[in-house]
Amino acid sequence: MEILYRSTRGEGSTVTASQAILKGLSEDGGLFVPDQIPALDISMEELSGMSYQQVAYEVMSRFLTDFTEEELKNCIDHAYDKKFDTEAIAPLKKADGTYFLELFHGATIAFKDMALSILPYLLTTAAKKNDVKNDIVILTATSGDTGKAALAGFADVPGTKIIVFYPKDGVSPIQEKQMVTQKGKNTYVVAIYGNFDDAQTGVKKIFNDTEMKAELYEAGYQFSSANSINIGRLVPQIVYYVYAYASLYRDGLISEGEKINVVVPTGNFGNILAAFYAKNMGLPIDKLICASNDNKVLYDFFVTGEYNRNREFILTTSPSMDILISSNLERLIYRIAGNDAEKNKKLMEELTSEGKYTITDEMKAQLSDFYGNYASEEETAATIKRIYEECGYVIDTHTSVAASVYRKYVEETGDTKKTVIASTASPYKFTRSVMEAIDSEKYASMSDFELVDQLSEISKVSVPNAIEEIRNAEIRHNTVAEVDEMPGVVKKILGI
Ligand SMILES: *Cc1c(COP(=O)(O)O)cnc(C)c1O
Repeated sequence: MEILYRSTRGEGSTVTASQAILKGLSEDGGLFVPDQIPALDISMEELSGMSYQQVAYEVMSRFLTDFTEEELKNCIDHAYDKKFDTEAIAPLKKADGTYFLELFHGATIAFKDMALSILPYLLTTAAKKNDVKNDIVILTATSGDTGKAALAGFADVPGTKIIVFYPKDGVSPIQEKQMVTQKGKNTYVVAIYGNFDDAQTGVKKIFNDTEMKAELYEAGYQFSSANSINIGRLVPQIVYYVYAYASLYRDGLISEGEKINVVVPTGNFGNILAAFYAKNMGLPIDKLICASNDNKVLYDFFVTGEYNRNREFILTTSPSMDILISSNLERLIYRIAGNDAEKNKKLMEELTSEGKYTITDEMKAQLSDFYGNYASEEETAATIKRIYEECGYVIDTHTSVAASVYRKYVEETGDTKKTVIASTASPYKFTRSVMEAIDSEKYASMSDFELVDQLSEISKVSVPNAIEEIRNAEIRHNTVAEVDEMPGVVKKILGI
């Protein structure tokens, strides 16, 4: 069965999966969605005997139907290899009466690796399939995690170059060090005098500059984006929910068809949307529990039906969830509007002009798969401490938001179904917040790398390669530019 993709704001014309991956965003500003969700028509018995890579093939081949078996397997094998420090790729860890799905065993120790390690291969394969002869130039603005994961994913991938812009004083010291030490002949990292929004706006401007686009084309290049709205990032994220369920089944922890709940610490709504797609494929998931930090725009939306970004932007200890516009929510809105692009477009235009929109009661009634709640900074810190003290297991701040919200859910509903919590970052990535949550007096005065060693001692988990690597790594990137110099910097890098 062929799956085609259409825009959430379009007239209904469709593109193939590989074209959707190449384009990233539709020209009308909408997001690509599959015209139907394929069924997971393979038994749990079979899936439970498979490796992560095999499960990845079963899931992804049902969505990316214009990729040949050989092409897709080649992408999968290049992505989920020794870059991950465990053969399981996404292992489940039992603690605190639930199962933590550890999505942080890749090159940059955050869950972004799950999709960004395969996107470069999907993209270059898609380019070949569509007779694109140019080299692909990835431009990305980052507030920290995405930039490094994209750099690691695209480093030395033939036919690509990647340029990452980050706000000079807007990322953590560890995040900056991770980026400026990036290896690879095709990687470029540029600090910007400005904030994340300035960097993002600068990148968008370059994307929309038709003159520059033509110049680039002439020189054998074309731009693309590694942004989380690309379906090439969404589809690989469905895999680990299927794999987690199959792992529980394999280990005799659930019976066939038994429903489980899933908790996801949410920012841009990509990860939880992947879980929703897994459910719609037929995976026995009951509730999708959407966990927010103090930027609780999604919690308010699930409660009231009004999405309202007109509020203070709060900086928290879970920065990857500090977000007021959850881009991927548009895919859910489109769906609960009855796949009505006109209706969706109107709401998205209201979001742009008014900063808010309200869905109808009829639409709201279709959100019963979801439960939303949020955790304050105090609750997040207290949960890290409690789970460490009770179980000896150390979780990161984002995962702790999810674990805190899960507790509220159980208290409110009494629902004790087996539950998987998406664990989106290694505690080593947010060492200071994690260690200060455990014992602020003891750890507050220590340096970042002293804390790393302390964390290793108390968690009995050895320091990941991603952290060891930057301890003494050589600085390879030192370009700093004004925002309005960004186009010039790109041209200079590309030699045009
Ligand atoms: C990106 C990120 C999230 C949020 O995921 P979305 O798909 O944007 O909802 C949560 N935790 C961590 C550590 C992340 O890097």
